[in-house]
Amino acid sequence: MIKFIGIPASPGIVIGNTFLYLENENNEIPRYSIKKNQVESEWKRLLLAFKEAAEEIRGLREKAELEISKEQAAIFAAHLLMLEDEELLSEIQVRLKAECQNIEWVFWNITHELSQKLIAAADPYLRERAVDIADISRRVLNILLKIKKFSLADLNRDVILAVHDLLPSDTLLMNKKRVKGLVMDVGGRTSHTAILARAFDIPAVLGLSSITREIQDGEKIVMDGTSGEVIIAPDRAVLKRYENAIGQYKKMVAGFSSIRELPSETTDGYRVTLMANIEIPEEAGHVLDYGAEGIGLYRSEFLFISPGKIAEEEEQYRAYSKVLKAMGDLPVTIRTVDVGGDKIIPELQNMNEKNPLLGWRAVRFSLAHSDIFKIQLRAILRSSLEGRARVMFPMISGIEELETALSLWEEAKAECRTQEQAFADNIPVGTMIEIPSAAMTADILAEKSDFFSIGTNDLIQYSIAVDRSNEKVNYLAQPTHPAVLRLLKMSIDAAHRGGIQAAMCGEMAGDAALSPLLLGLGLDIFSMGSLAIPAVKRVIRSASIESCRTLAEEALKCRYTKEVNALLEEWQREHEGGKAE
Ligand code: PEP
Ligand code: MG
Repeated sequence: MIKFIGIPASPGIVIGNTFLYLENENNEIPRYSIKKNQVESEWKRLLLAFKEAAEEIRGLREKAELEISKEQAAIFAAHLLMLEDEELLSEIQVRLKAECQNIEWVFWNITHELSQKLIAAADPYLRERAVDIADISRRVLNILLKIKKFSLADLNRDVILAVHDLLPSDTLLMNKKRVKGLVMDVGGRTSHTAILARAFDIPAVLGLSSITREIQDGEKIVMDGTSGEVIIAPDRAVLKRYENAIGQYKKMVAGFSSIRELPSETTDGYRVTLMANIEIPEEAGHVLDYGAEGIGLYRSEFLFISPGKIAEEEEQYRAYSKVLKAMGDLPVTIRTVDVGGDKIIPELQNMNEKNPLLGWRAVRFSLAHSDIFKIQLRAILRSSLEGRARVMFPMISGIEELETALSLWEEAKAECRTQEQAFADNIPVGTMIEIPSAAMTADILAEKSDFFSIGTNDLIQYSIAVDRSNEKVNYLAQPTHPAVLRLLKMSIDAAHRGGIQAAMCGEMAGDAALSPLLLGLGLDIFSMGSLAIPAVKRVIRSASIESCRTLAEEALKCRYTKEVNALLEEWQREHEGGKAE
């Protein structure tokens, strides 16, 4: 029995047999010398293989467009461009002539060197592009070597897929009904594969380093996409524990449907709104299954991050329209792009910032590129007729930035009018409160905002000065730190005094243990990963607003984080088994 801990990338617990998919590494590349007069025929072989590969990729692009989205299809469009890359072709030709080795060997060496360079790059976007090079390289080599590649589309039994890395074409093609789980050596929570796994509801643990070297094909494993645990060859006791956990998980999911239609209100009739956070348009439909009453945060930057460039107005318009249509008459809050920090788009940003988290991020970037910003604002305006759009600006640090963003919003409206492009009246425009300076001037910001949305992931990071991705200091990032509670109170009270609603879309909103505290502080809208909604609703339905207000008052008097946590635990003990269903 071996236990691994990876990055929990898509929730769900699975016990099953693995399917070890290592086709990238298993095939040896033949190497032999050729005569000078064979150079021409080797070159022609390559051109024919390129042609065949291009046909395959065109087929995949069409499939992606039909089954997923135009944005995913763009990956294959990029693959096609690589096959037409003059520089690549000329390097292959030059080295073929100079080295007089068979074309498979020359081609493999060049693409291998290229992908190694990309893997070594500091920039995560470039590192992810190595996957695309590997995808194309494998495709062309399979054609040259006449290898019939096993397609994951042909999987005909239930498996947990174990891979080093999943190529974009594999993710798209795999038989999603048969892939019950995914474990992978590489990848993180925001990697392409993680996002797709969540959109397809496939539990996934990524970033496991060497799992494919430890696992045998067909071996039994258990995996938990919520905790990140993967256990190879589990013993009886572990199997029993996980079987129980699956039972509980199933019960929890079954309970979702019973609670889905019930209102999110306390025992004494105080009503709040529970919404979902999404990253890609395809997620929008799914959130309704968990009882989401709207989208409280659509992280629009993923439209830019995945293809690595600015999405054009039409593409953005289509994406926003898709989300709005999927949500019908429920509100959809589109956050303008939050690039920068750890979400770098090489085409747009200088990556040599000393402190990227304090740097050219989010609305700062948008205001510096008003042309790009207005493309997004126009796309939002145009899509607004498809549903109930709301828009909000990330990382506002003070009123000046908010006013500039609002004046660009007005300019975008004027441009739409000039071009006779209709849009909805009175689209609410909100401010994200995720920098301490915004929380401290929330009363001023409320005058110009239609709502607030508190981004606690960043608010905690910036108020306690702790990089949340740094595991050495991560323990300091406590949502119940007295400073965080004061900033929350300040923001929510300022919203209410200004006559607007206070929402929260940071991870804190989805932590059911903190729900009574947030209720007591007066939060109106809780937005979270959709899976968390039923558990939060259950707690809300078991609470009285009076008890929550008392709890919040007590918590605000605490001097230590641990005191606040103890109060929350005490509250939980007293309220177990309330009204819920
Ligand atoms: C936040 O900071 O809490 C937030 C919701 O934004 P993001 O996690 O995208 O930075
Ligand atoms: Mg944020």
